[in-house]
Amino acid sequence: MTRSVMIAELAWPEYDRLVRHGKTTVLLPIGALEQHGHHMSMNPDVLLPTAMAERVARSIDALVAPPIAYGYKSQQKSGGGNHMPGTTSLDGLTLTSMLKDVLKEFARHGVRKVAMVNGHFENSMFIVEGVDLAIRELRWEGIKDFSVVALSYWDFVTDETIRTIYPRGHVEGGRSPASHIPALRLLPDQTRLDTVLGMPVIGQAGFRREGQAPAGGLCRRNRARAADRFRPGLGVSR
Ligand SMILES: [Zn+2]
Repeated sequence: MTRSVMIAELAWPEYDRLVRHGKTTVLLPIGALEQHGHHMSMNPDVLLPTAMAERVARSIDALVAPPIAYGYKSQQKSGGGNHMPGTTSLDGLTLTSMLKDVLKEFARHGVRKVAMVNGHFENSMFIVEGVDLAIRELRWEGIKDFSVVALSYWDFVTDETIRTIYPRGHVEGGRSPASHIPALRLLPDQTRLDTVLGMPVIGQAGFRREGQAPAGGLCRRNRARAADRFRPGLGVSR
Protein backbone atom coordinates (compact mmCIF):
# COMPACT_ATOMS: atom_id res chain seq x y z
CA MET A 1 0.00 0.00 0.00
CA THR A 2 1.31 3.44 -0.89
CA ARG A 3 2.00 5.62 2.11
CA SER A 4 -0.04 8.80 2.42
CA VAL A 5 1.83 12.09 2.08
CA MET A 6 -0.74 13.78 4.33
CA ILE A 7 0.65 14.18 7.83
CA ALA A 8 -2.77 13.95 9.45
CA GLU A 9 -3.26 10.47 7.98
CA LEU A 10 -0.07 9.05 9.47
CA ALA A 11 0.38 7.45 12.85
CA TRP A 12 2.88 9.33 14.97
CA PRO A 13 5.70 6.74 14.88
CA GLU A 14 5.69 6.82 11.08
CA TYR A 15 5.61 10.62 11.05
CA ASP A 16 8.44 10.65 13.56
CA ARG A 17 10.52 8.30 11.44
CA LEU A 18 9.99 10.50 8.38
CA VAL A 19 10.80 13.88 9.90
CA ARG A 20 13.17 13.48 12.84
CA HIS A 21 16.30 13.47 10.67
CA GLY A 22 15.32 16.88 9.22
CA LYS A 23 15.59 15.85 5.58
CA THR A 24 11.88 15.61 4.68
CA THR A 25 10.25 18.81 3.44
CA VAL A 26 6.87 19.70 4.89
CA LEU A 27 4.44 21.63 2.68
CA LEU A 28 1.95 23.76 4.60
CA PRO A 29 -1.11 24.95 2.59
CA ILE A 30 -2.66 28.19 3.81
CA GLY A 31 -6.04 29.33 2.55
CA ALA A 32 -9.24 31.02 3.63
CA LEU A 33 -12.94 30.47 4.10
CA GLU A 34 -14.17 33.02 1.59
CA GLN A 35 -16.99 33.63 -0.83
CA HIS A 36 -16.11 32.97 -4.47
CA GLY A 37 -19.30 34.03 -6.19
CA HIS A 38 -22.71 32.43 -6.51
CA HIS A 39 -21.40 29.44 -8.37
CA MET A 40 -18.57 28.14 -6.25
CA SER A 41 -17.99 26.66 -2.83
CA MET A 42 -16.13 28.78 -0.28
CA ASN A 43 -13.08 26.56 -0.06
CA PRO A 44 -11.03 27.07 -3.25
CA ASP A 45 -8.29 28.96 -1.41
CA VAL A 46 -7.76 25.84 0.71
CA LEU A 47 -8.60 23.26 -1.92
CA LEU A 48 -6.14 24.49 -4.54
CA PRO A 49 -2.93 24.82 -2.51
CA THR A 50 -3.69 21.55 -0.73
CA ALA A 51 -4.22 19.68 -3.99
CA MET A 52 -1.08 21.20 -5.50
CA ALA A 53 0.94 20.46 -2.37
CA GLU A 54 -0.25 16.86 -2.35
CA ARG A 55 0.81 16.32 -5.97
CA VAL A 56 4.18 17.97 -5.41
CA ALA A 57 4.75 15.99 -2.21
CA ARG A 58 4.19 12.72 -4.03
CA SER A 59 6.78 13.65 -6.62
CA ILE A 60 9.52 14.82 -4.23
CA ASP A 61 8.81 12.53 -1.27
CA ALA A 62 7.65 15.37 0.96
CA LEU A 63 4.78 15.60 3.42
CA VAL A 64 1.73 17.88 3.50
CA ALA A 65 0.59 19.40 6.78
CA PRO A 66 -3.11 19.91 7.48
CA PRO A 67 -4.03 23.20 5.79
CA ILE A 68 -4.74 26.42 7.61
CA ALA A 69 -8.38 26.77 6.59
CA TYR A 70 -8.93 30.41 7.65
CA GLY A 71 -7.07 33.43 6.36
CA TYR A 72 -6.60 37.15 6.73
CA LYS A 73 -9.50 39.50 5.95
CA SER A 74 -10.79 39.38 2.40
CA GLN A 75 -10.22 42.62 0.52
CA GLN A 76 -12.38 44.33 -2.08
CA LYS A 77 -9.90 44.13 -4.93
CA SER A 78 -8.78 40.56 -4.41
CA GLY A 79 -11.47 38.65 -2.54
CA GLY A 80 -14.72 40.53 -2.83
CA GLY A 81 -14.61 42.06 0.63
CA ASN A 82 -14.82 41.00 4.22
CA HIS A 83 -18.49 41.96 4.51
CA MET A 84 -19.76 39.01 2.47
CA PRO A 85 -21.78 36.31 4.25
CA GLY A 86 -19.69 33.19 4.69
CA THR A 87 -16.32 34.92 4.47
CA THR A 88 -14.78 34.13 7.86
CA SER A 89 -11.47 35.82 8.56
CA LEU A 90 -8.72 36.00 11.12
CA ASP A 91 -7.06 39.09 12.53
CA GLY A 92 -3.50 39.44 11.29
CA LEU A 93 -2.13 38.82 14.77
CA THR A 94 -4.09 35.55 15.06
CA LEU A 95 -2.90 34.25 11.70
CA THR A 96 0.69 35.27 12.37
CA SER A 97 0.65 33.61 15.80
CA MET A 98 -0.91 30.43 14.45
CA LEU A 99 1.70 30.11 11.74
CA LYS A 100 4.53 30.83 14.15
CA ASP A 101 3.26 28.18 16.59
CA VAL A 102 2.81 25.52 13.90
CA LEU A 103 6.27 26.15 12.44
CA LYS A 104 7.91 25.93 15.85
CA GLU A 105 6.11 22.64 16.51
CA PHE A 106 7.41 21.20 13.24
CA ALA A 107 10.90 22.31 14.24
CA ARG A 108 10.49 20.55 17.59
CA HIS A 109 9.65 17.33 15.72
CA GLY A 110 12.88 17.60 13.73
CA VAL A 111 11.58 19.24 10.54
CA ARG A 112 14.11 21.66 9.06
CA LYS A 113 12.59 22.49 5.65
CA VAL A 114 9.11 23.93 5.20
CA ALA A 115 7.34 25.37 2.14
CA MET A 116 4.31 27.55 2.85
CA VAL A 117 1.89 27.12 -0.07
CA ASN A 118 -0.44 30.09 0.00
CA GLY A 119 -3.84 30.10 -1.69
CA HIS A 120 -5.21 33.44 -0.47
CA PHE A 121 -3.54 36.68 -1.54
CA GLU A 122 -4.38 38.61 1.62
CA ASN A 123 -2.36 36.16 3.73
CA SER A 124 0.90 37.05 2.04
CA MET A 125 2.63 39.44 4.45
CA PHE A 126 1.23 37.72 7.53
CA ILE A 127 2.90 34.54 6.33
CA VAL A 128 6.19 36.41 6.06
CA GLU A 129 5.71 37.74 9.58
CA GLY A 130 4.82 34.32 11.01
CA VAL A 131 7.91 32.79 9.40
CA ASP A 132 10.10 35.64 10.62
CA LEU A 133 8.92 35.31 14.22
CA ALA A 134 9.28 31.52 14.19
CA ILE A 135 12.83 31.64 12.85
CA ARG A 136 13.79 34.36 15.32
CA GLU A 137 12.48 32.43 18.31
CA LEU A 138 13.97 29.14 17.11
CA ARG A 139 17.35 30.83 16.91
CA TRP A 140 16.96 31.95 20.50
CA GLU A 141 16.39 28.27 21.32
CA GLY A 142 19.53 27.21 19.44
CA ILE A 143 17.90 25.94 16.23
CA LYS A 144 19.69 27.78 13.44
CA ASP A 145 19.16 25.50 10.45
CA PHE A 146 15.38 25.85 10.07
CA SER A 147 14.54 27.17 6.62
CA VAL A 148 11.22 28.18 5.11
CA VAL A 149 10.11 29.29 1.67
CA ALA A 150 6.85 31.18 1.25
CA LEU A 151 5.13 30.48 -2.07
CA SER A 152 1.80 31.44 -3.60
CA TYR A 153 0.51 29.02 -6.21
CA TRP A 154 -0.28 31.72 -8.76
CA ASP A 155 3.42 32.62 -8.91
CA PHE A 156 3.86 29.48 -10.98
CA VAL A 157 1.00 29.95 -13.41
CA THR A 158 2.80 31.23 -16.47
CA ASP A 159 1.22 32.65 -19.61
CA GLU A 160 2.44 29.54 -21.40
CA THR A 161 0.59 27.32 -18.92
CA ILE A 162 -2.59 29.33 -19.40
CA ARG A 163 -2.28 29.08 -23.17
CA THR A 164 -1.76 25.31 -22.91
CA ILE A 165 -4.75 24.71 -20.66
CA TYR A 166 -7.04 27.26 -22.30
CA PRO A 167 -6.04 27.43 -25.97
CA ARG A 168 -9.20 29.42 -26.77
CA GLY A 169 -8.68 31.98 -24.05
CA HIS A 170 -10.22 32.09 -20.63
CA VAL A 171 -13.04 33.82 -18.87
CA GLU A 172 -10.98 35.21 -15.99
CA GLY A 173 -7.43 35.39 -17.22
CA GLY A 174 -6.47 31.94 -16.00
CA ARG A 175 -5.12 32.92 -12.59
CA SER A 176 -8.28 32.88 -10.52
CA PRO A 177 -9.54 29.99 -8.39
CA ALA A 178 -12.41 29.62 -10.84
CA SER A 179 -9.81 28.87 -13.49
CA HIS A 180 -7.88 26.21 -11.65
CA ILE A 181 -10.61 24.14 -10.12
CA PRO A 182 -11.86 22.89 -13.50
CA ALA A 183 -8.29 22.64 -14.80
CA LEU A 184 -7.23 20.36 -11.96
CA ARG A 185 -10.51 18.44 -12.10
CA LEU A 186 -11.04 19.19 -8.44
CA LEU A 187 -14.47 18.46 -7.07
CA PRO A 188 -16.34 19.63 -10.15
CA ASP A 189 -19.67 19.26 -8.35
CA GLN A 190 -18.67 22.21 -6.16
CA THR A 191 -18.47 24.55 -9.13
CA ARG A 192 -22.04 25.33 -10.02
CA LEU A 193 -21.71 26.80 -13.47
CA ASP A 194 -25.39 26.37 -14.11
CA THR A 195 -25.86 28.99 -11.40
CA VAL A 196 -23.32 31.30 -13.01
CA LEU A 197 -24.89 31.12 -16.38
CA GLY A 198 -28.33 31.84 -14.96
CA MET A 199 -27.24 34.96 -13.08
CA PRO A 200 -28.38 38.42 -14.04
CA VAL A 201 -25.84 40.60 -15.79
CA ILE A 202 -24.61 43.09 -13.21
CA GLY A 203 -22.06 45.14 -15.13
CA GLN A 204 -18.53 45.90 -14.01
CA ALA A 205 -17.16 47.50 -10.89
CA GLY A 206 -15.11 50.62 -11.54
CA PHE A 207 -11.75 49.38 -10.33
CA ARG A 208 -11.70 46.22 -12.40
CA ARG A 209 -10.02 46.00 -15.72
CA GLU A 210 -12.05 45.49 -18.83
CA GLY A 211 -13.11 41.87 -19.13
CA GLN A 212 -12.80 40.91 -15.45
CA ALA A 213 -15.80 39.66 -13.54
CA PRO A 214 -17.07 41.63 -10.53
CA ALA A 215 -17.23 39.63 -7.30
CA GLY A 216 -20.32 37.50 -7.15
CA GLY A 217 -21.25 37.88 -10.79
CA LEU A 218 -20.11 37.95 -14.37
CA CYS A 219 -20.09 40.80 -16.79
CA ARG A 220 -22.01 40.33 -20.03
CA ARG A 221 -18.96 39.47 -22.11
CA ASN A 222 -17.55 36.97 -19.64
CA ARG A 223 -20.87 35.27 -19.13
CA ALA A 224 -21.06 34.68 -22.84
CA ARG A 225 -17.54 33.31 -22.81
CA ALA A 226 -18.32 31.03 -19.86
CA ALA A 227 -21.34 29.64 -21.64
CA ASP A 228 -19.16 28.95 -24.64
CA ARG A 229 -16.22 27.33 -22.89
CA PHE A 230 -17.54 25.42 -19.89
CA ARG A 231 -19.55 22.27 -19.59
CA PRO A 232 -20.82 21.77 -16.02
CA GLY A 233 -19.28 18.72 -14.38
CA LEU A 234 -16.60 18.27 -17.01
CA GLY A 235 -14.46 21.33 -16.42
CA VAL A 236 -13.13 23.10 -19.48
CA SER A 237 -14.36 22.07 -22.87
CA ARG A 238 -11.62 21.40 -25.38
ZN1 LIG B 1 -8.85 34.45 -1.26
